[in-house]
Amino acid sequence: MRSHGRGHVEQDMLSVEEAYERMMASFSPLDAAETPLLEALGHVLAVDVRSPLDLPPLANSGMDGYAVRGEDIRNASPDAPRQLKVIGLAAAGRGSPQTVAAGTAIRIMTGAPVPAGADTVVPFEETDEVRRRKAGLSLDEIAILSDLPPGSNVRPAGEDVGRGELVLQAGTLIRPAEIGVMASLGLEKVKAIRSPVVSILATGDELVPMGRPLEGGNIYDSNSFSVAASVMACGGIPRPLGIARDNPGDLDRTLQAVAGSDLVITSAGVSKGDYDIVKDVLARRGEIDFWSVRMRPAKPLAFGHLRGDGGRAVPLLGLPGNPVSAMVAFEMFARPAIRAMLGRRRLPRPTVEGVLTGPVYNADGRRVYARVRVELRNGTYYASPTGPQGSNILTSMARANGLAICPEDLPGKEAGERVQIIMLEWNEEVDV
Ligand code: AMP
Ligand code: MG
Repeated sequence: MRSHGRGHVEQDMLSVEEAYERMMASFSPLDAAETPLLEALGHVLAVDVRSPLDLPPLANSGMDGYAVRGEDIRNASPDAPRQLKVIGLAAAGRGSPQTVAAGTAIRIMTGAPVPAGADTVVPFEETDEVRRRKAGLSLDEIAILSDLPPGSNVRPAGEDVGRGELVLQAGTLIRPAEIGVMASLGLEKVKAIRSPVVSILATGDELVPMGRPLEGGNIYDSNSFSVAASVMACGGIPRPLGIARDNPGDLDRTLQAVAGSDLVITSAGVSKGDYDIVKDVLARRGEIDFWSVRMRPAKPLAFGHLRGDGGRAVPLLGLPGNPVSAMVAFEMFARPAIRAMLGRRRLPRPTVEGVLTGPVYNADGRRVYARVRVELRNGTYYASPTGPQGSNILTSMARANGLAICPEDLPGKEAGERVQIIMLEWNEEVDV
């Protein structure tokens, strides 16, 4: 193992992969809930969806025109038009009760059921309708000006989906198109994997909730907000529990509220300086490990399970306190865990290869996740570091849309070098 610069390598540090694997072993898709169709957007289907009906339910017209018998218009052409008697009208939602007999036609609109006897729809443009209108003639008769193969412009029953057909598979992400498909099948509710409820707890004597003035070195609790927002952004339901003071009693009291959550995320109190109280309380309430992960930012991390009062063990992820560390640790660990509970297949963010426009340093043999602004120019991703990389500089996170990776075994990466970039946003925001 190499080390770089002033830092040192701790032998007991877990690699990012080890920590990830250990943690992810505790997460799998949650149970399904009967969900009103529109609310299922962004969820994963828990069951196969089979069609209860034919779609379309009846053969219907794909054009505005005339429903005819194919044999009546054989060899019709502008020079040899076929004259048909128009016996009725079929509109969408209002079929015609009449039957198209030899020598007759029914005027038909797009989506209208094709009347009995007809097998073909001739569009207006291939009739003399416009000429007749201009000439002030009635539409009791119509001349067909072309021969169309039988079945033309008729959408057969069950063309899109047949009754009983498998339409959407369990495990499918429900996007607007899936919502539309299920609506077309008349499904008011769907069985979708429910969203995890994530309790969020900040710890620290220095933290003040918003709305109070800052005094004597206090700071506002930003982690509760960035974590809650991150939970929402990946499909979880945040349940903020507020701020626990750095004393066992307060932490203990606050943790009683976690029963019924699917995950607890705490921030701070996991670094060497201060985790003893947290450690004691968490150890008493469950099994929690404190880890050092070979990454920068976000080296200190806690993971384990709390025994809720109801007896069910709730996984707990303890993020570091520094605001950037908390967000990066959320990205690397909490987000994939939440997505696993949601039944999503791809758990980590997408990664692209790009070119650094400025250097990234690695002081002590950890994997560095540098905040970068990624831009796509002429087909190449360029990653520009967003300024000072201290783990307290939250504005540099706000300027970033990606995390450029410097591997553990490199002392850094220079401008112009290629890097892997974890994309915190995707292409539509990145393309300039
Ligand atoms: P700790 O992990 O308790 O040593 O905290 C590390 C740093 O993160 C300290 O500078 C804390 O003040 C800061 N910090 C901890 N919790 C929060 C929070 N909820 N919001 C903003 N900063 C925090
Ligand atoms: Mg603290």
